[in-house]
Amino acid sequence: MKTANSKKLFEAALRLMPGGVNSPVRAFRAVGALPHFIARAKGAKLYDADGNAFLDYVLSWGPLILGHAPAPVVKAVARVAARGTSYGAPTAVEVHLAQMINEAVPSMERVRLVSSGTEAVMSTLRLARAYTGRDGILKFEGCYHGHSDALLVKAGSGAMTLGIPDSPGVPADLARHTFTAPYNDIGAVERLLEAHHAAFACVIVEPVAGNMGVVPPSQDFLGRLRDLTHHYRIVLIFDEVITGFRVAYGGAQSRYGVTPDLTCLGKIIGGGLPVGAYGGRADLMKLVAPEGPVYQAGTLSGNPLAVTAGIETLKLLKKPGLYRQLEERGRSLGEGLTRAAREAGVSVTLNRVGSMMTLFFTPGPVTDYASAKKADSQAYGKFFRAMLGQGIYLAPSQFEAAFLSTAHQPADVARTVKAARAAFNKLKSN
Ligand code: PMP
Repeated sequence: MKTANSKKLFEAALRLMPGGVNSPVRAFRAVGALPHFIARAKGAKLYDADGNAFLDYVLSWGPLILGHAPAPVVKAVARVAARGTSYGAPTAVEVHLAQMINEAVPSMERVRLVSSGTEAVMSTLRLARAYTGRDGILKFEGCYHGHSDALLVKAGSGAMTLGIPDSPGVPADLARHTFTAPYNDIGAVERLLEAHHAAFACVIVEPVAGNMGVVPPSQDFLGRLRDLTHHYRIVLIFDEVITGFRVAYGGAQSRYGVTPDLTCLGKIIGGGLPVGAYGGRADLMKLVAPEGPVYQAGTLSGNPLAVTAGIETLKLLKKPGLYRQLEERGRSLGEGLTRAAREAGVSVTLNRVGSMMTLFFTPGPVTDYASAKKADSQAYGKFFRAMLGQGIYLAPSQFEAAFLSTAHQPADVARTVKAARAAFNKLKSN
């Protein structure tokens, strides 16, 4: 595989940017490889600066559920760009997107658009604290909710991959308000809230964890969280930045039938452009400025290009049978990978919810942060490199999800499973 251009670009980037990248996991450090600089993408394929093609299971870390550059989205963005890229004033498209979100996720009675998942989540914490007059936050170990100070405590994703779940620079005074419990451990939540409920503003959870690798909620976990937060009058926040419009059109809350007070969205609702959103019960959301006193603002919030990409994406997602097909393709890939591993004698656990999945290099089961950490990252790194060498681009970390798009065809899945078989055999013979 040619890599001269990527290497040259990475050398230049290293002199100019920390680690040569603008987001840590892109640097491929956890898998012992050098990053490929991407030149363009279409459908399920990425093309790098040396002309190599890859079948992409990262999909910009989840947003591109329709694959790269779907024609209707690209056309709409180009049309809107010609009319101006930002006005700093309200537009019709913002109303349209808010309406589509509200229809898909009815618990989001009122919506505020922002520009990233981090921003959406951070804003819900402020709102929950203002509403309850309390400061405590309960989050789950291995869940990542963006890089705001209060939430960089036992976080997943890049923080987990790089082994820095608690970042320097987060004031201890702030971190002491953030409590953590093991994911799926409702007993731990019960005990904590029983003793300290008066301290808590909110419980925040990824309703399907995606940032310690994919970890589904166990039976009743979300429902019990709902009961407990109701009981103690604590705000329940679902961080659906990954799961929103991914595990179902209505997100994890529709898939599992549990309704939070506030929801955070990102990724898919921007169709690959920077958009986040938060929303929920009207009586909470009316506290947000300018209707209420809780301040939150953004120069590019509701940006017309980004919002248009989101609207066009959501429109295409309404096609009947689309989620059934994603589910089916996810099942087929998951089963294929599991079978290939078993035949090669490699011990793995595949966790999957719909079109998001993680192949953990551990006999499992993987149900929380502690069991996810038992996975053999070295083995994953070898597997990753063997797959990349065959043109399959997986997440460059054991603790991330692989995503499918509607552009991934059965032949792509078959090719991936075939490559995995070779990768597992190579792993076994080393
Ligand atoms: N919440 C979750 C569940 C996420 O997965 C992420 C990002 N992967 C975020 C929040 C932060 O979103 P962003 O990177 O857009 O700030």
